[in-house]
Amino acid sequence: MKTRKSKTLRKVHVRTPGSKSKVAYKKRKPAKSKCSSCGETLKGVPRGRPYQLKKISKSKKRPERIYGGVLCSKCLKRKLIRGARKYE
Ligand SMILES: [Zn+2]
Repeated sequence: MKTRKSKTLRKVHVRTPGSKSKVAYKKRKPAKSKCSSCGETLKGVPRGRPYQLKKISKSKKRPERIYGGVLCSKCLKRKLIRGARKYE
């Protein structure tokens, strides 16, 4: 385990079963997922460690549309319009 003075771990106040408040040290959340085209933070994509994401259903992990969880809505819209105009 890393030293408690370092900022590697985050401090969490936890209430114990004996009703006492204690400081626990937990691992930090991973970075927010970004759009692969513009780099904007993706909406509707949860942030958490694999054991936390395992508990939620697939439909809650990313938007249910094509390129959901990869591209943001603006970039997808632009991409679809560009694709449609290509075959006119
Ligand atoms: Zn984008």
